[in-house]
Amino acid sequence: MTRRSHPDVVVVGGGIVGAACAWYLAAEGLAVLVLDAGFPGGGATGAGMGHLVVMDETEAQFALTSYSLELWTALANELSADCQDEPRSTLWIAADEEELALVEAKAEFYHRRGVAAEVLSSSELAGEEPELRPGLAGALHVPGDRVIYPPAAARWLLDRAVEKGAAVQTDCRVEEIGSGWVRTARGEKISCDLVVNAAGPEAPRLTSGLPVEPRKGHLAITERYPEFCRHQLVELGYLKSTHTEAADSVAFNIQPRATGQQLIGSSRELVGWDLSINRRLLAAMIRRAFDYLPRLAELQVIRVWTGFRPATPDGLPLIGPWPAIDGLWIAAGHEGLGITMALGTGRLLAECMVGRQPSLDPAPYEPARLES
Ligand SMILES: Cc1cc2nc3c(=O)[nH]c(=O)nc-3n(C[C@H](O)[C@H](O)[C@H](O)COP(=O)(O)OP(=O)(O)OC[C@H]3O[C@@H](n4cnc5c(N)ncnc54)[C@H](O)[C@@H]3O)c2cc1C
Repeated sequence: MTRRSHPDVVVVGGGIVGAACAWYLAAEGLAVLVLDAGFPGGGATGAGMGHLVVMDETEAQFALTSYSLELWTALANELSADCQDEPRSTLWIAADEEELALVEAKAEFYHRRGVAAEVLSSSELAGEEPELRPGLAGALHVPGDRVIYPPAAARWLLDRAVEKGAAVQTDCRVEEIGSGWVRTARGEKISCDLVVNAAGPEAPRLTSGLPVEPRKGHLAITERYPEFCRHQLVELGYLKSTHTEAADSVAFNIQPRATGQQLIGSSRELVGWDLSINRRLLAAMIRRAFDYLPRLAELQVIRVWTGFRPATPDGLPLIGPWPAIDGLWIAAGHEGLGITMALGTGRLLAECMVGRQPSLDPAPYEPARLES
């Protein structure tokens, strides 16, 4: 039962990461209170693409994405219909022979770790996705990935937390976090044993020195064209764009939604808190998509939006205690993988907070690693 006056844990932020933390903490028997400045899933979570994807850039990234994907897959029969959860394999597309060599290295990485993946030749790729431009070199087919509708999944996780006794307060901005208390914008001081800062890109506003910055992204969605493409299609150059030092970048990434719509990404930009549409970058992103899927130009785009990925300097999230404030834990900084990593993050954080043997080695994600 949640003790509103003195919960065991206050989770600040009801995005997909805070929602997953709340669920696992409540499942551990803790009295949890979630406070969100707006509404659950209204931040980065509502702007995201919902690709649940195993990634291979580092062992730590692989460990958290693959573990989280296992947890999402295990929930497939329980998620509500509005979560639009479905298996959706990924095709990592190689444009030329140089990229094909990367595809083969990626396949080997997955095979060595027991993840199903298959290299497709140029003609096999064309057979799988006839709308792609001719002459691409091949692709890596990863059949175990999935897609969900992130804001609905965040709400579903919070509902499960509430079933286990958690309380959720929306329209409640936290102004300050201390050791064993939070102070809201309404001037209320809530005391508790532990606090989790899961405020996504806004996390550093509450915890000074937290190395998270907003990395803007654009997405565009079309009218319904079921069968236009069948897989999540990502150019291999996408990985380069996530690491580029350039001020902005685009990469081809398209996702067929359960509704029949085609969700087109993606861009990356460091422009502070400016959410406005960058027409130049949006045009470059769309041109890149036309380059891979020429007939996409005939489809009707009905909406374009932007959102902020919570980025960290080393590309890994911050999950664990914050050494400067006793009792403060962090679950933030998931950049472009927070939907995927949410379940692994929530579970790992809850295990560490209650002192249980963690399912993963927590060291690579500990916030203390980036303290200057
Ligand atoms: C364009 C784009 C595409 C993406 N595609 C994918 C994808 O395909 N797959 C994937 O895995 N990830 C993807 N991501 C990344 C993913 O969306 C984020 O990593 C994830 O949503 C972060 O979740 P969060 O809960 O940490 O943050 P948020 O969803 O931002 O949640 C934080 C919450 O905290 C609340 N809050 C903030 N400050 C306060 C405060 N002071 N007091 C109280 N509440 C506060 C906010 O209202 C918000 O609800 C994408 C992101 C973008 C922008």
